[in-house]
Amino acid sequence: MFDLGRGTRCSTARPSTLRDLGERMNIHEYQAKELLGRYGVTVPRGKAVTSVDEAVEAARDLGSAVTVVKAQIHAGGRGKAGGVKLARSLDEVREHAGAILGATLVTHQTGPEGQLVRRLYVEEGCAIDRELYLGVVLDRETNRVTFMASTEGGTEIEEVAEATPEKIVKANVHPLTGLTGFQARQLAFALGLEGKAVGKAVRFMQGLYRAFVEHDASLAEINPLVLTADGDIIALDAKMNFDSNALYRQKALLEYRDLDEEDPAEIEASKHDLSYINLDGNIGCMVNGAGLAMATMDIIKHFGGEPANFLDVGGGATAERVAAAFRIITGDPKVKGIFVNIFGGIMKCDVIAEGVVAAAREVGLTVPLAVRLEGTNVDLGKTILAESGLTIIAAEDMADGARKIIEAVG
Ligand code: ADP
Ligand code: MG
Repeated sequence: MFDLGRGTRCSTARPSTLRDLGERMNIHEYQAKELLGRYGVTVPRGKAVTSVDEAVEAARDLGSAVTVVKAQIHAGGRGKAGGVKLARSLDEVREHAGAILGATLVTHQTGPEGQLVRRLYVEEGCAIDRELYLGVVLDRETNRVTFMASTEGGTEIEEVAEATPEKIVKANVHPLTGLTGFQARQLAFALGLEGKAVGKAVRFMQGLYRAFVEHDASLAEINPLVLTADGDIIALDAKMNFDSNALYRQKALLEYRDLDEEDPAEIEASKHDLSYINLDGNIGCMVNGAGLAMATMDIIKHFGGEPANFLDVGGGATAERVAAAFRIITGDPKVKGIFVNIFGGIMKCDVIAEGVVAAAREVGLTVPLAVRLEGTNVDLGKTILAESGLTIIAAEDMADGARKIIEAVG
């Protein structure tokens, strides 16, 4: 998915904010279409189903000449991976639904392990004249909701941005005016629309804007936005995600949450009130405080390592929570070394040390562990670690710890 914030990442590849790390709630295409439909955004008729029989039933009810069977997973690129199929008869619906449901789709957004398809969206087929692109993001450089429109629909917008950036037209929206008619018309013209389609596109975009703002969305991507053979403007695909920090005031959105699509480790972490985000590297990090956690990731990167996660155990964590955090880190097969970097302020170093020792004994430590403790009761903490009988690499400071764990991982 396209994110304007990505372009502003600093050289150490530190994400510009935690949101880049996944502090967003994703929803399915069918849910986004349901939500957008309430705002006057035109979407095809369709039904979400969880079995092949239901899929056939839904297609019969739709009664359209062409039906599209679409995998519902929290990832794009389904079409290319075989997760979107056109059917011209109920038999074909049965065939495609049977093939897609229960399959594991590997798209460029799922990672190599892919994502199991548990649900399908059965949608009426649409006579496509042109496939366009329309995206809405929160641009952190201008602090404004920004529309992006391109005639290059259907393809990945990242590729368009890379090869032909002039083909993406942007409009920054002022929060007081909202998306103005003038801006929407300019976008519509940039999309090459004419006649009645312009007015339809304007209403579409203004509805999309309202849906975006009223739900604290971080991203809404309509790819493709379609001009139909009849001159209508329709969202053929819809991807939306929302700022997790705003969910406290977006209770209705929680209904859309699908735990099956979320990382089990992240769900487990949220049960223990740990801020945990899984990353691609091999050094597991256990840190207290979001700022120190970011700094720890930075310093690992600085010395040439790659963090496997962001993990903030919080200010007042107990030995139990530390143990839970430790289990989550060691449960990740990518992790080849662990760096515990704790400043004991509210949370005392001896409590951390006890938690680490208890957890390491419980799960059995199979990878190198470096620990840097500083702050309240630091000497007691160090003694607990030293007398534990565990092989722990003691670090003098953050830089020392980062260097040592990177060296140990090799
Ligand atoms: P993804 O982006 O995950 O590949 P899309 O929903 O964009 O999934 O579908 C991929 C392609 O399938 C679209 O670009 C479009 O060409 C076609 N398609 C999707 N839905 C329909 C539909 N209802 N009618 C006709 N074609 C469709
Ligand atoms: Mg798409």
